[in-house]
Amino acid sequence: MRFQAIQTAQSRKISKVKTDVSDIPSLFGSNVFGPDAMKEYMSKDALKAVNEAAKTGSSIQRDIAQKIADGMKQWALEKGATSFSHWFQPLTGLTAEKHDSFYEVWGGKAIEKFSAGSLVQQEPDASSLPSGGLRNTFEARGYTAWDPSSPAFIMEKASGKTLCIPTIFVSYHGEALDYKAPLLKTMALLNKAATQVCNYFDKNVNNVSASLGIEQEYFLVDKALYDARPDLVMTGRTVFGHAPARGQQMDDHYFGAIPSRVFNFMYDLELESMKLGIPLRTRHNEVAPGQYECAPMFEDINLAVDHNQLLMDLMEEVGRKHGFKSLLHEKPFAGINGSGKHNNWSLITNTGVNLLSPGSNPNSNLQFLTFFINTIKAFHDSAPVLRASIASASNDHRLGANEAPPAIMSAFIGSTLTKVLNDFKTNNKTSKDPADNEVITIHNLPEILKDNTDRNRTSPFAFTGNKFEFRAVGSSENCGRPMIALNAAVANQLLEFKQDVDALIAKKKKTEDAIFEVLKGYLIASEKALFEGNGYSEEWAEEAEKRGLENVKNSVESLDSYLSEIANTIFVKNGIFTKEELHARYEIKLEDYIKKIQIEGRIMDELVYTHILPPSLQYQKTLADTINSMLSSGATKASTHGLSELLNEISNHTNSLKMATDLMVNERKLANTIADTKQKAHAYCNKVKASFDEIRFHADKLEHLIDDDLWKLPKYREILFVR
Ligand code: ADP
Ligand code: MG
Repeated sequence: MRFQAIQTAQSRKISKVKTDVSDIPSLFGSNVFGPDAMKEYMSKDALKAVNEAAKTGSSIQRDIAQKIADGMKQWALEKGATSFSHWFQPLTGLTAEKHDSFYEVWGGKAIEKFSAGSLVQQEPDASSLPSGGLRNTFEARGYTAWDPSSPAFIMEKASGKTLCIPTIFVSYHGEALDYKAPLLKTMALLNKAATQVCNYFDKNVNNVSASLGIEQEYFLVDKALYDARPDLVMTGRTVFGHAPARGQQMDDHYFGAIPSRVFNFMYDLELESMKLGIPLRTRHNEVAPGQYECAPMFEDINLAVDHNQLLMDLMEEVGRKHGFKSLLHEKPFAGINGSGKHNNWSLITNTGVNLLSPGSNPNSNLQFLTFFINTIKAFHDSAPVLRASIASASNDHRLGANEAPPAIMSAFIGSTLTKVLNDFKTNNKTSKDPADNEVITIHNLPEILKDNTDRNRTSPFAFTGNKFEFRAVGSSENCGRPMIALNAAVANQLLEFKQDVDALIAKKKKTEDAIFEVLKGYLIASEKALFEGNGYSEEWAEEAEKRGLENVKNSVESLDSYLSEIANTIFVKNGIFTKEELHARYEIKLEDYIKKIQIEGRIMDELVYTHILPPSLQYQKTLADTINSMLSSGATKASTHGLSELLNEISNHTNSLKMATDLMVNERKLANTIADTKQKAHAYCNKVKASFDEIRFHADKLEHLIDDDLWKLPKYREILFVR
């Protein structure tokens, strides 16, 4: 299979992507029921209702919903859709669909029908999707409900088109079973909290929304080679594989010329994304061989998350067309860089002001510093929850692996802002003398920041001029999860800020002075989370420990933070999750961890017995036979010494491999008998997974030692360099 796969990969024809470049403007959003299509297919009152609902969350009357459904159906039918589906994001991290036909059979005739009810709400059987114990089996019903703030779209497959309606997914009792419902709640809370704070500076602001731009890293490997690696197919990563002679040490891949076949894939992906209104803009090679990145223009956070989920689905689809498999796993290959997903996050007002962009006068700079320092304080206080919000078995391989930020949550702000904050902190200004404003160092911020190109790739949370970049998010993650945590943390912080400032105002402080005083306190309370140096270094780990910052390297431990006091404050107190919902999410993530390690353990076990031991033993026998026949035809012991050594080496590895694998299997069986989810996850982490390295060590040695012709699994050099 390995050699066949190599041949298939090498003989692939490069499939050209057909487009008329002049068509691109009309291509953008052509499969989206966006503003233009809505205007054309819906009555004025229906349009108004949708826009209102999208903006304010107001409910839509039944008769109006029917008008919307009619318009949407008309548009979809003209586009050639035959079915519709509610499209949602269950806690598997993937997207889910349940398709229904537009056609119903009446009196032997197919009649098209799409009711208001089907638009607004559906009832997929939820019993096979994770609920973390929120749902008893006798209440297996789950409900999907339309999210009018994310437009419907048409998903095109080779043999049919489906109208997809973005929805939230909740249980019979209304508990959230997805990422969208809580994300929408955090958006509303953040809007309320940030608008109040904005009103200290500008009474015209009546809406604040979070913006998000997501940089997606991924690997592309040939589909045939992928299929010949059962570990990749089963787990998304290679559990075995000797390091290739050349990895990424030549530094020749990053920003290098994009190979033609890959280029065609990217181009096709961009066109398909365009149809769905996903504004992809950037494409380039990443650091590791076979690794790439793409990024869209930033959008409203809800839409950006939906679009990233769609993008990941498209990568799969488009990859297939080009004979590729795109790998979204955080660490598909040991020893070379893994993949992340940088979440660029900011806050934008209805008046068009980016609140994390320094302004052009002292007042707007104070507004900037208000949101800047509050974000840092929120990050500092909620760091363990933010860490938990990106915890997964797959991201564990990446965090702190000298290529991605460590598990220590620190923020980088650059030298200019570090100086500004230091001045800010030591400035003992009172408002007695209004002219004092002039001496506040913040008044010429924009000039200093204009060309601020400070970058720090080693920080998990970096300020990059007009936004924060949460860089620790894993490449396969649903960004809703970390963004729920970040939104909630910042919203909670802004609510607190408003209270603290108002308390001082009530004591007759001037507003500006109150703001200064409170911010100064926040800065002092949270500055230990600020770090400008090399996040990959040993020294930082030591320094962070001295500062009392957590460094939780494994997910199982990190997930405990979902049950912490701070999680309770930002989520439960603010009505984002109930205690039960939060606990359910904790359980689901632990279960997810267990299952992933269990599958990895099983595939390791299987591959050792079926793919690694057989060729190794065959070669071992060949060697033994050779030595024996040499000796029996009169060769001296000394002349077979080297061969005997090799034979010994190989048989040591085959023997140890078998033993180590059996030990792991035993640990797995033991772990499976544990009823308590947390204890079981701990066993999977500390016993089962802990034994993987030893198994891998022997397997990889064997790959290195035995006859290449016998080896069954495609090697790293083949998967990463054949294209
Ligand atoms: P890099 O960090 O690699 O230099 P860019 O500066 O191009 O990349 O930005 C990366 C992402 O950040 C893009 O998706 C971009 O649209 C997004 N971005 C830019 N400004 C904002 C903003 N104000 N809010 C959220 N995302 C933003
Ligand atoms: Mg970036």
